[in-house]
Amino acid sequence: MSLLPSVSALGHTGLGSPSGPQGALQVPPKPLTKRKVKQRSERVKDKVPHDVRQRYVNMFTEEFLKTSPTVKDSFEKALAEERTVYNRSANKLKYLSVAVNALKRMKNQSAVPTKGVCECICVCTRVCALLIFNSKGEHSPQHEPAWDAVLYESLKEYIMNEEKLIEHNYPLQNPERPGSAILFADNKKTVNDPLKRICCRCGATYSVSKTGKHTRKEECNYHYGKGVEKKVPGGDETRYSCCEGVMGAPGCQVFRLHVHDAVDMNGFVSSRPREDPERSCPGVYSLDCEMCYTTHGLELSRITVVNSALHVVYDTFVKPGNDVVDFNTRFSGISEKDLKEDCPSVGEVQQTLLRFVSVDTILVGHGLETSLCALKFLHGTVVDTSVLFPHRMGPPHKLTLNNLTADYLRRIIQDSVCGHDTADDAAACMELVLWKMKEDGKGRKW
Ligand SMILES: [Zn+2]
Ligand SMILES: [Zn+2]
Repeated sequence: MSLLPSVSALGHTGLGSPSGPQGALQVPPKPLTKRKVKQRSERVKDKVPHDVRQRYVNMFTEEFLKTSPTVKDSFEKALAEERTVYNRSANKLKYLSVAVNALKRMKNQSAVPTKGVCECICVCTRVCALLIFNSKGEHSPQHEPAWDAVLYESLKEYIMNEEKLIEHNYPLQNPERPGSAILFADNKKTVNDPLKRICCRCGATYSVSKTGKHTRKEECNYHYGKGVEKKVPGGDETRYSCCEGVMGAPGCQVFRLHVHDAVDMNGFVSSRPREDPERSCPGVYSLDCEMCYTTHGLELSRITVVNSALHVVYDTFVKPGNDVVDFNTRFSGISEKDLKEDCPSVGEVQQTLLRFVSVDTILVGHGLETSLCALKFLHGTVVDTSVLFPHRMGPPHKLTLNNLTADYLRRIIQDSVCGHDTADDAAACMELVLWKMKEDGKGRKW
C-alpha cells in the first residue's frame, strides 16, 4: 500500500496540473505590496519540472506523517510547504536549495519526539500514561500515527479468524444472552455439586458455602512445575521442574487455601465501531493482565497496555468484585497492599478500554484469551503471539512467553522472584510481533 498521494493528487489540489501547461498554477490573489514576489514566482514556473515538485511534496508528506494524525493532513501541510518553497525560488537551482533546507528543518523537528504525561486515556489519577507529543509540545491524539498505520496494515494478515478464536478458547458473545460470553473449548474440571470446587493447583475437591467461602481451612500443597523425565544410571527418573523433587514428593509450594479458576461469564462488554472511522488508524496495542483467586474464581487484579512504540499507555491495579482468597503473589507480584479501595473495578477498566479500543483495534498479547476473560471484554481483532509462534509439536502445546523472548529477542524476562512484570510482558509481545513482521518482510521502515 502506498501511503503517498499520487502525482495526480497534486493537480486536484490546484497546485499545478500535470495535464495542463506547466505554468497553470492557481496562485492565490496577493496584495499589491507582494507583486514582486508574485512576478518572480510566475517566472519560475517553467523552470521547476513537475516531477521535481512532486518529489518534494512526497518527501515533505513523509516528514509531516511523523507528527500528523492522518495522511490527508500531512499531504495538505506538505502542499502548503512546497508552495512556499516554490514561491520563494527564482529558478530551479534556488528551488532545490530552498526545498532541501526546508526538508532538513522538518527532519530536525520531527526527529526527537518528547515524552510527556497524557491524561487523554486514563480516568484515574494513579494511572501512569505516556504518549508522544509532537515537536510543538501539542498532544497528538495517537502516538506516531504514521507508524501505527503502517504497522496496522502489516499486521492485518496475522489477525485471528473466528475459527482460530474458537480453537484457542477466546470468549465469544453468547448469542442467547446479551452481556454474556461463552467458551467453546471449556475443558476445566468441574463438579456437579454446587457446594464443591476442584482446586486448580493441587486437584483436591473442597467444600464451599453458598457465597463461595471455604467451609474448612485446608492447606493447598502442590508443585507449580511440570514433571521432567531425565536419564539416570539404571533408567529414567521424573522430577518436578520447580524444585527438582522426585515425582510424588509432597508439594514444594504451600498455600493457605485451595483455589479454583472459574470465570464468571456475565458482565461482558464488546468493543464498538469507531464513531469516525475515516479519521485515523484504529491503533495497535499490546496488553497483559494479572489475576487473583477470589471466592468466585479468577478475577482481574492488574492491567497494563503498551502502544506500538512500547510505551505504557494504561496501567492500573484493579479491585476484584469478590473476596480475595489468594493474591497469587508468587506469579503476579501483587499483594494485598496493591489492591486498595480506590482501585478501579473491572467495569471502570472496561469503560477506559472502550475509549481507545474500537472493534477494529488490533490487540496483541500472549494467550490473550485469559486476559480478555478476566477483563470481560469481547474483542475479535487479536494477534496472539502464542499462535503466531506455534510449538513445533502443534496445539495444544504452546511456547511460553519466556521461551519466545529468549529465542527471538535474546532476552530473559519473568525471572524476578516477586512475580513478573506486566509492562515487560506486554512490551515483549509487541516486540515479537514487530520481529515477525520484519522477518516476513512486511513494513517499509526497517
Ligand atoms: Zn516443586
Ligand atoms: Zn489446592
